[in-house]
Amino acid sequence: MLRLNDIFEIIKSYHPQADFDLIQKAYVYSAKVHAGQTRKSGEPYLSHPMAVAKILAELRLDEASICTGLLHDTVEDTLATQEEIEQLFGKDIALLVDGVTKLSQVKFKSTEEKLAENFRKMLVAMSKDIRVLLVKLADRLHNMRTLQYMRPEKQELIAEETLEIYAPLANRLGMGWIKTELEDLSFKYLRPADYQDLKEKVGKTWHERNRFIEEVLEDLRKALTDAEMTGYDVSGRPKHLWSIYRKMVDKNMNFEDIHDLIAFRVSVGTISQCYEALGAIHTLWRPVPGKFKDYIAMPKPNGYRSLHTTLIGPKGERVEIQIRTFDMHQVAESGIAAHWKYKEHGGQPVEVNEVADKGFVWLRQLMNWQQELRDPNEFLDSVKVDLFSEEVYVFTPRGDVIELPRGATVLDFAFAIHSNVGMHCISARVNNQIAPLRQVLESGDTCEVITQKNQQPNRSWLEFVKTSRARTRIRSHLRQQERKRSEELGRELLEKEFRRYGTTLQKWLKEEHLVEFLKHDGLASLGYGKTDAKTLVQKVLPKELLKSQVGEAPKSRFGQIIDRLSGKNYSGITVEGVEQVLVHYARCCMPVKGDPVIGFVTRGRGMTIHRRNCPRILELDAERRIEVNWDEGSTLRRPVFIKITTDDREGMLAEISSVFSKMNVNISEANCRTYGDGHAVNTFKCGIADLSQLKHIFRALEAIKGVYSVERARSILS
Ligand code: MN
Repeated sequence: MLRLNDIFEIIKSYHPQADFDLIQKAYVYSAKVHAGQTRKSGEPYLSHPMAVAKILAELRLDEASICTGLLHDTVEDTLATQEEIEQLFGKDIALLVDGVTKLSQVKFKSTEEKLAENFRKMLVAMSKDIRVLLVKLADRLHNMRTLQYMRPEKQELIAEETLEIYAPLANRLGMGWIKTELEDLSFKYLRPADYQDLKEKVGKTWHERNRFIEEVLEDLRKALTDAEMTGYDVSGRPKHLWSIYRKMVDKNMNFEDIHDLIAFRVSVGTISQCYEALGAIHTLWRPVPGKFKDYIAMPKPNGYRSLHTTLIGPKGERVEIQIRTFDMHQVAESGIAAHWKYKEHGGQPVEVNEVADKGFVWLRQLMNWQQELRDPNEFLDSVKVDLFSEEVYVFTPRGDVIELPRGATVLDFAFAIHSNVGMHCISARVNNQIAPLRQVLESGDTCEVITQKNQQPNRSWLEFVKTSRARTRIRSHLRQQERKRSEELGRELLEKEFRRYGTTLQKWLKEEHLVEFLKHDGLASLGYGKTDAKTLVQKVLPKELLKSQVGEAPKSRFGQIIDRLSGKNYSGITVEGVEQVLVHYARCCMPVKGDPVIGFVTRGRGMTIHRRNCPRILELDAERRIEVNWDEGSTLRRPVFIKITTDDREGMLAEISSVFSKMNVNISEANCRTYGDGHAVNTFKCGIADLSQLKHIFRALEAIKGVYSVERARSILS
């Protein structure tokens, strides 16, 4: 069995100053809590965390990662608790162990490609710290290496998950050897017959191929030496089985037809030597047109850099060669882990702008940090995963994953589950704590929606939903509600009109005009004020009856509103030339004379005046929109909230109030708050006559020394 000392030896080779006591402590603790447990292989359970720690050491990771490798199954599988781990090993390691534990609780269910991609993203987003992901990959690698002890059904499931999820993740992180090994191990369990067959074929031609490799390498060395190059390294080895198999399947080829089974590699010191070597090799053999790829000038999204070329070799065979620097090679093999460099060991830092690619910004940042920070631990602290920042991944209580845009709330989540759940959602339990509808969700949250039968969407919901799905459903529900109310109102108006002629709506329901009218949403259009009851009734009733009118002729829908409301109060607004309409002013935007405005007919409440740039009007029914104007002659004062951000200094309030009084403005409410950081926010409710007065006040306030900003606010609290 693997001994702790073996792991120490590896760590010493790259990080001699590591905290070996801490690692030893993690080892002892893991041995204690796993005591008595065995693996399916019959080995003591401890052999697994040990093997994981060794892989992490081979990746040259820091002591926290290695401790996490030793402890990664303790919280999940033993009596150990998160609190205990934190007490013994500190917050950093406790968080890493918690991250790995959380990842293992997520089960991948579908092999559908899009879902697999989501799942990968979610794992990354959940990991928060890249080391969590690296420990998880090491864990998976060792489980794959010992997969033969599992039941066959289990083997297939795990292998599938590895191929769909973990190998691409390793690739994404640029960890070539882990990706390769995971793929071949998955291949072995997923298509055992093909795997064995291919392995045998590759094995049979081994001798022949070895001779071929030696020949090619000999020629390469000679060409490079002739070109007066030194310090290079050449190698050739068979490609991994899965990649050969993929090629056979994708190109529908037999094994015998595949010639580039071997990957030749030339490693050199600098980038300019890469191109020099390329020149030398292209003189040696004829390159195959269209096969040259410059991944140094155009790195792959995962940071991979190399020159690739294919040539017609000594026996007319195709020879594929990769040319790269030693640094590039390290990155290609261990990817992100290659950037953990330890100061005491030196090593040339990778040139930042060479590795970085647009899609790989986080890696660039990694390396920038690495150069700026002296202490490797400090460097690790700043390594946070930000690969897929535009989405969050939230769990249902059953463990399904819901993808939402960043900023999405509990309500979005509810609508994502099902429209009916969204409609009746009243709150939720997020990670077992009661949360309001507007709470923003984060990756890794578990959300359980709480519904109530009589709950209904309301307009304020639109303020905090982020997904168009939720928005559309809420809007359409609100429209339906509004329509229902309009129909009720329309019926009421119509019944009233019939009564004025001493008859009832009920009696005339079969009359053809009325039948036709009702068929075409007549009631709603009456309610909205688009048609009027009087005209309709005149068409329906016979002339004799019309003469026997009992009450006074009602006005149009508009007239009704205006009648009902006008003459009682002076509003400052004119509508289509009608003066003195009673309106009320929207609280959301607090219009003042001079602001461009628009009116909305509100059932039973007359008209509401909004500013034209008020975001709320987009939510209102366009059908109810009415052009309105300010009454030029009006001297009505309107309340406005003015928010002033200032220095928190003595005498400031006095100066502000003196501006108000000089301008002859009344303040009816004030809210003044100071913040610890030396600034204060003062909000005043004042009576303002018009926009030009408001502008004057703004200018005077802005002129006060120590005033940062003056703006209109929605309420005294803002
Ligand atoms: Mn494990």
